[in-house]
Amino acid sequence: MQKKINEFLAVELEKLQEQKLFKNERIIESPQGAEIIVKGKKCLNFCANNYLGLSSHPDLIKASHEEIDRRGYGLSSVRFICGTQDIHKELEKKVSEFLGMEDTILFSSCFDANGAVFEPLLGENDAIITDALNHASIIDGIRLCKAQRWIYKHGDMRDVEEIDPANDKMAKGLERCLKEAKAAGCRFIMVATDGSFSMDGDIAKLDQICDVAEKYEALVMVDDSHSTGFLGKTGRGTHEYRGVMGRVDIITTTFGKALGGASGGCISSSKEIINWMRNKARPYLFSNTVAPAVVGGTLKVMEILMASTELRDKLERNTKYFREKMTAAGFDIIPGDHPIVAIMFGKYPDCSKLAVDFANKMLEEGIYVIAFSFPVVAKGKDRIRVQVSAGHSQEHLEKAIAAFTKVGKELKMIP
Ligand SMILES: *Cc1c(COP(=O)(O)O)cnc(C)c1O
Repeated sequence: MQKKINEFLAVELEKLQEQKLFKNERIIESPQGAEIIVKGKKCLNFCANNYLGLSSHPDLIKASHEEIDRRGYGLSSVRFICGTQDIHKELEKKVSEFLGMEDTILFSSCFDANGAVFEPLLGENDAIITDALNHASIIDGIRLCKAQRWIYKHGDMRDVEEIDPANDKMAKGLERCLKEAKAAGCRFIMVATDGSFSMDGDIAKLDQICDVAEKYEALVMVDDSHSTGFLGKTGRGTHEYRGVMGRVDIITTTFGKALGGASGGCISSSKEIINWMRNKARPYLFSNTVAPAVVGGTLKVMEILMASTELRDKLERNTKYFREKMTAAGFDIIPGDHPIVAIMFGKYPDCSKLAVDFANKMLEEGIYVIAFSFPVVAKGKDRIRVQVSAGHSQEHLEKAIAAFTKVGKELKMIP
């Protein structure tokens, strides 16, 4: 074994610890759910992407077991050799129907879907216009493709270029980027955005994005990982929430969050784009097919969500209740509709330490939440991020709000 790199990394890891950037993993000793066991102690989980409470739902576990019995454990193949079963086609059809798109292609993860989606479609004469706060997997997917790149200031739709006071750097709005790409003679232009942004819980203004993209004949691509299953009246996602179903060209999303939370992802689009992906997308062609257990569970999720809006309705009620009570208690919360609720610490002295201390005290109270501090978020934007779930009961929510209020008073944040 080469010692040199290990010695180098030992020093670097030490630095991460000193900078408080080292990621410590807390170990869960139970299934995922509203109630989990950490270090032998029961606590309420308020930091999972388990938006619909489906992660350990008995119907999913049953469906998943049944699919293992019917179609086996693994396929030992990529899709185009011998890794496509009837159930993979069935799931692609159901997801297309759910999202209101023509066709769908499955991937092992949404990270793979985003790694796949750009490169086969866009070359050096094309352009990608991307929101500055897009997910890491979109950024990496764009890196894999040769298209020219424009970055627009987060959520800024305007035809402007100006100094961003947040970082003193020049920044452009979406329309300015589109105008420049058009003037550069780009053949295809694609706007790429997260549907919901995971740090603030803000929701992309897809209606405005579609308006301005259409003006410049640009495609719109949305990664709806933090929206699919619950945003919009029937939970179809950000396009439904913003009233632009049928106007979005490409949706990527994950089965690893609201839709059962195991793994898997997909691209949904026109039948031509999806067929092209089946022939050209490298994470599809050269990586294993999604396991039958996951397909079976996700098929059951589709069935549940298309039969009733009960779960997303409950999530909406829970989110509203939690946001109202926390605001009334005096906390500084980024307003909105999303079950990601960012409780901000910037207005208090020594806010980074305060946020971390707060999260630790919450765990002592039996509530599992996570603090995000500089440099993960901008200076002064330190926060605790809560994720509300349909799996939370009224009692769970009340317990969490009571604990927040108690710790908030102890730390002199609220009167
Ligand atoms: C979580 C997430 C992903 C990754 O999804 P996986 O299926 O876990 O790979 C991609 N994009 C966004 C916006 C996400 O939030």
